[in-house]
Amino acid sequence: MHREKNFMAAPNKVEDFAGQRILAMDPRSEKKLRACAACGSTDAQPLGVKNELEIVSCRKCATVYTPYSPWYSSEYYYESYYPEASLSPPAFIQTRLEEITAEFSPYRQTNRLLDIGCGAGNLLLAARRNGWTGYGLDVSENSVKHVRSLGFEVFQGELQKANFPAQHFDVITAAEIIEHLPEPRVLLDEVARLLRPGGLFWTTTPHARGLSARVLGLKWRCIWPRSIYSYSPHVA
Ligand SMILES: [Zn+2]
Repeated sequence: MHREKNFMAAPNKVEDFAGQRILAMDPRSEKKLRACAACGSTDAQPLGVKNELEIVSCRKCATVYTPYSPWYSSEYYYESYYPEASLSPPAFIQTRLEEITAEFSPYRQTNRLLDIGCGAGNLLLAARRNGWTGYGLDVSENSVKHVRSLGFEVFQGELQKANFPAQHFDVITAAEIIEHLPEPRVLLDEVARLLRPGGLFWTTTPHARGLSARVLGLKWRCIWPRSIYSYSPHVA
């Protein structure tokens, strides 16, 4: 799949994205600041500057994010996210993934499982060992090629473009994905359409008030540009 690269050559790493360069490349005439993706509030406390962009914390729900809304798609941003070197995980990760996917058994009806952002295919391999028919989806060409070579059907691109039938899957997984999405609700709405009634959506995301965030502050690698949002559980 070839895409037009009108604004610059594809970066080698996500970290190559520098804030001011991104702002300067923004072709939009109106550059809206965004609200918190978790709760919709625009009341945010400045935390400082990281990689040339301001980082804020939502005063209502403590989600940490940069308020500049991006003009580029996640396909553009993560095209080179999976270099060949990162395709083989340590054995203990594979073991843990097998334990996790074994717990999906009570949801088995169609036997179809979709992994959004399938990366190196590790979760799909673990699901296959537990009897699931796994489908993958990723924006990274390297990932898609690799996971197809493992014998899985994989769509390259964003979920809403894949056109899977409604209520098609028992289980949909998205490990460490939602923090990268400018509009997570677009993905969540599509997940809701694709899951059969009573199906399972399993997702993980870094915790904006977890230990790493508290100790490292803005130095935490999960804050921009690695992630767009760092979510936090609701605190009454
Ligand atoms: Zn919020």
